[in-house]
Amino acid sequence: MLHRLTVSELVDQLGRRQVSAREALESCLGQIGRIDGQLKAFLSHDPADAMAQADAADRDLAAGVTHAEKPLLGVPIALKDVLCHRGQPLNCGSKILGNFISPYNATVVEKLQAAGAVVFGRLNMDEFAMGSSTENSAFFTTRNPWDITRIPGGSSGGSAAAVAANEAFATLGSDTGGSIRQPAALCGCVGLKPTYGRVSRYGLVAFASSLDQIGPFTKSTRDAALITRTISGHDPRDSTSLNEPVPDYLAGLNGDLRGLRLGLAKEFMVGGLDPEVRDAVDAAVKKLQELGATIEEVSLPHSEHAVATYYIIATAEASANLARFDGVRYGARVAGADPTEMYERTRGAGFGAEVKRRIILGTYVLSSGYYDAYYLRAQKVRTLIRQDFLEAFKKVDAIVSPTTPTAAFKLGEKTQDPLQMYLSDIFTISCNLAGISGLSLPCGFTREPKLPIGLQLLGQPLGESTLFRIAHAYEQATPWHRDVAPLG
Ligand code: GLN
Repeated sequence: MLHRLTVSELVDQLGRRQVSAREALESCLGQIGRIDGQLKAFLSHDPADAMAQADAADRDLAAGVTHAEKPLLGVPIALKDVLCHRGQPLNCGSKILGNFISPYNATVVEKLQAAGAVVFGRLNMDEFAMGSSTENSAFFTTRNPWDITRIPGGSSGGSAAAVAANEAFATLGSDTGGSIRQPAALCGCVGLKPTYGRVSRYGLVAFASSLDQIGPFTKSTRDAALITRTISGHDPRDSTSLNEPVPDYLAGLNGDLRGLRLGLAKEFMVGGLDPEVRDAVDAAVKKLQELGATIEEVSLPHSEHAVATYYIIATAEASANLARFDGVRYGARVAGADPTEMYERTRGAGFGAEVKRRIILGTYVLSSGYYDAYYLRAQKVRTLIRQDFLEAFKKVDAIVSPTTPTAAFKLGEKTQDPLQMYLSDIFTISCNLAGISGLSLPCGFTREPKLPIGLQLLGQPLGESTLFRIAHAYEQATPWHRDVAPLG
């Protein structure tokens, strides 16, 4: 049952030489072989390349390299198909990239490998990270490891499902409007969207550049803190990355919440919230109080406009970012009589329906005559949303809410109704618009069927330490993260 260990437990066993990096990787590959035919989290993986990294880690361990020097030495970690991994395919869940192979490593991949991790695999996702269920993948739909008739969430559905089903010890995903926290909640793992600028995005394929962040999926808060510490920091190759020191996120995990002030956003606990989700979040708030935190009501009055604002800003940025996929430089090309026809045919055949919908919306809101009415206004509302949070953070250290309005829904349930799908992110989107930090962790299960429920903690800009401290204390006091999914 090696594959069920957390990263921290595995590190401990590797350090004592009770297991080897090769055995750790084999335990993941074995689990993938047993269940991925049903789960479909991986688009591909390259066992030979992974094994070479594991053997290198074993040589380091044999030579006496410690986890103090390389904190993730020998730990298998898999990647969402939106991050460049040199020599490996990169498709962003789309057909338009054809047989594209990454020519270089994303900064996060470099950092993981410098810390000794065994980086492997390409995890399924909604095409170009647009979606909430992984049903927009051009390849296939990933299933939820708790119930394979249900979606794992999205867009990083493969990253969440792989961790929840113990196919990897941890994974990376990206979050533009909830794509780490929402699938983490629906699959029952820990997911962090770091503060905008905390993690370099060099080597991340851009969806909406003012919103995108990379973050981890893990089986415990401690693991999330460890991986975030590894991948964070300034990078001259990403001009939006912050030049701020990276704290030791593991240092504050002491289980004590005395003196901590938590806010409950009244706007988040209303309409459309499933009663079982509400009960689980209410119970979690009580537990946090028992652990020493005080609770105060806070108000985020502009958050009701977050979904509308997001679908203007994100689509506008996506329409510009995706202009580069034109058949000239990257991936697939469909020939035409002239360049314009070639572009049209390539983009017509290469992009799926949701991506086309977003490009059309984004082009519309940026077009002259509509720019002021939509894009400019959305930018103003975005500022108000950020100000709401900064105002609330004068009173409280973090804000607690549900991560999603419901537990995992059935495959196909929302595919015909894009608006319903967009509302899956109603609690996660404002965090990206405000550029703050957000974490989801397990806080219970629905009864019939048994499906995970996620608790969202929203923190100040660069407030990750506080989020980890709260999440860790809650996790120590509750059993939810220990339950193993049926496919796990
Ligand atoms: N579900 C949201 C969307 O479809 C968020 C996606 C994301 O965070 N990448 O845009």
